[in-house]
Amino acid sequence: MTDRVAVFDTTLRDGEQSPGCSMTPDEKVRFARQLERLGVDVIEAGFPVASKAELEAVRRVAAEVRSCSVAALARAKEEDIEPAARALEPAARPRLHVFLATSAIHLEHKLKIRPAQALRQAAEAVRYARSAVYDVEFSAEDASRTDYSFLREVAQAVQEAGASVFNVPDTVGYALPDELGAVFARLHQDVPGLTLSAHCHDDLGLGVANSLAAVRAGARQVEVTINGIGERAGNTSLEELVMALRVRQESLGLSTGVRPEELTRASRLLSSITGIWPQPNKAVVGRNAFAHEAGIHQHGMLANPLTYEIMTPASVGAGESLLVLGKHSGRHAVESRLLALGCRLGAQELDELTAEVKDLADRKKFVYDDDLLALAGRAPAGELRLVRYQAVTGNSVLPTATVEVERDGRAHAASAVGNGPLDAALKAADAALGLDLELLELHTRAVTAGKDALAEVSVRVRFDGREATGQAASTDSIEAALKAYLTAAGAARVGQEAA
Ligand code: MN
Repeated sequence: MTDRVAVFDTTLRDGEQSPGCSMTPDEKVRFARQLERLGVDVIEAGFPVASKAELEAVRRVAAEVRSCSVAALARAKEEDIEPAARALEPAARPRLHVFLATSAIHLEHKLKIRPAQALRQAAEAVRYARSAVYDVEFSAEDASRTDYSFLREVAQAVQEAGASVFNVPDTVGYALPDELGAVFARLHQDVPGLTLSAHCHDDLGLGVANSLAAVRAGARQVEVTINGIGERAGNTSLEELVMALRVRQESLGLSTGVRPEELTRASRLLSSITGIWPQPNKAVVGRNAFAHEAGIHQHGMLANPLTYEIMTPASVGAGESLLVLGKHSGRHAVESRLLALGCRLGAQELDELTAEVKDLADRKKFVYDDDLLALAGRAPAGELRLVRYQAVTGNSVLPTATVEVERDGRAHAASAVGNGPLDAALKAADAALGLDLELLELHTRAVTAGKDALAEVSVRVRFDGREATGQAASTDSIEAALKAYLTAAGAARVGQEAA
């Protein structure tokens, strides 16, 4: 018999807070569908008081997700709890997540309140949250640096006020596994009946080790993110923790409800939405996580994979990309494949995407899952659209590009020379747009293998003090870069008008 550990995914909240990982409401909904398919227990969808758009995003996730709980975060005050409860109204299983710092350093310097006040505020906030939502979780921010007897008092007070889950965050990533394990063991003994939760950060690369120490000492919920994204060095990585529990189940006696064969897909979907890919040697989901290079290892693998493999790529859904679509595939095939990958599109979007799939299949014969996700995941170009472009380059001519863009329904064209075709194309785009964008980052990635691969380009630009990102895919890397650039430019303009 194994004991079940609940998986609380905070990719859409803590993860989304990390630089370059912010998501639109549409992207949050799309990713939440994949989390539901993955089988997590709780999806933390956001922090509704932060903005109207954030509240709307949480509300849409709450309306979409049926089989897992949807959580919304709130500080321990009515003006936060009220919008969080409102955002959770459509949820099948709402959870309100209230937090307040408890460490001396946070109380004194950040909140400027005494411990007795914090204790009262925590209990009052939980009681208020319980008046709106039955399932309330309380987080003692910076718990790992909180004096134990005070932490225990807070746990008892919020339990009495109606919280069912008590989260112990290692907010600053400072704890060591044996220390954190000891805190959980004491709480487990001192405050029975409360589900204990671990929320660890990876500042010292100990997120997974600390979370494992917590569950071994009685925690029955872990707060994690896909690809380990999150504040600073990130949060405990869901895929690593889940696979550690699974591969070492005999030793640990613990299990989760996660379907590991969905892990790779979740990781890739997140990367294609944010444009940030995990390092190649990242455990479980990195490109090289199952690559055996050394001759001795290869020899062993051929004789028997168990010589060097503790889990198979197939067990986490990795391996060859599935060949799915060609130019004869219709709308229905595109739709069903997309649904299988976690994307549901509206009728018009689907028609447009089917046309793009055929167009791509014409150029490169086959369209793989990754290609499809890249096509489906590209952000809308706002009012900026690439009409056509042309670049002339070579080692004996001056690289020159002409770009025509549609801006607010009107075509504008411009030409420029540069120190390469990409530089020339982006300068021409600037001239055509009449905008002076600062290019902060540009990453190009081959989405699939082969010389005919689809290039996915992510760009980050700064315009008038605001940053925005864009992604696009094409077999032509200059075209992909231009489309990504226009997407980012459109987003920066929208930001300008909203501000
Ligand atoms: Mn955190």
